[in-house]
Amino acid sequence: MLFFDPLYIVVLVVTLAITGWAAWRVRSTYAKWAKVDSGLNLDAFDFARRLLDRQGLTDVRIEPTPGQLTDHYDPRGKVLRVSTQVADASALATQGLTTTAPRLSVAAAAVIAHEVGHALQDKQREPAMALRQAIVPAAQFGSSIAPWLIIAGFWLNLTGLALVGLIGFAGAVVFTFATLPVEIGASGKALAFVNGLGLVGERQAGARDVLKAAAWTYVAGALTALLTFLYYAWLIFGRRD
Ligand SMILES: [Zn+2]
Repeated sequence: MLFFDPLYIVVLVVTLAITGWAAWRVRSTYAKWAKVDSGLNLDAFDFARRLLDRQGLTDVRIEPTPGQLTDHYDPRGKVLRVSTQVADASALATQGLTTTAPRLSVAAAAVIAHEVGHALQDKQREPAMALRQAIVPAAQFGSSIAPWLIIAGFWLNLTGLALVGLIGFAGAVVFTFATLPVEIGASGKALAFVNGLGLVGERQAGARDVLKAAAWTYVAGALTALLTFLYYAWLIFGRRD
């Protein structure tokens, strides 16, 4: 019954549309500003190191990581990982092997500055970041096992089991919303960093566009999680036929 429910199809189409739009937007904005040189005359690693040192984060290491848009800060290892697409392009440009890729693009500078923002949040023990870390186990349970409990409970007519699943899934929804202030906060710090390093005018606007597009993917994630939660809640409470 569940998989042939027309409302389920509607929820599925709407969530795919929201996440697809956000993913397209971040890719296209990144691609546009990946072609524009930041003008900072630094490669990706030097840029990351300089930003970290300026914030007193001299203990944070920098490592390359494969892929595109895979840049992240690892709070457990105190490591900032810079995606190799960013690093390779800047290494080639540094050696004068290519003239097409900017040494450090506006997009790469924005993304790296955002990750340094997370490193600073970690150092400052920001409550929003601590809260998000505390919800991680509940979120993992909520997004992996909970939906199956809801479906099993629904099919077996065990309302209690479905309710346990629904409460678990609520943990995942709370996590996606707790992520928003952390991500938006890191982007706010990132903009202040790049402005301080002299990224101005159109390039500054470009960095803001990249960070804004990235933030929308988290908003999309939170909205689709909430929509899915409401659908599950309706399955459990709304159908009294
Ligand atoms: Zn982030």
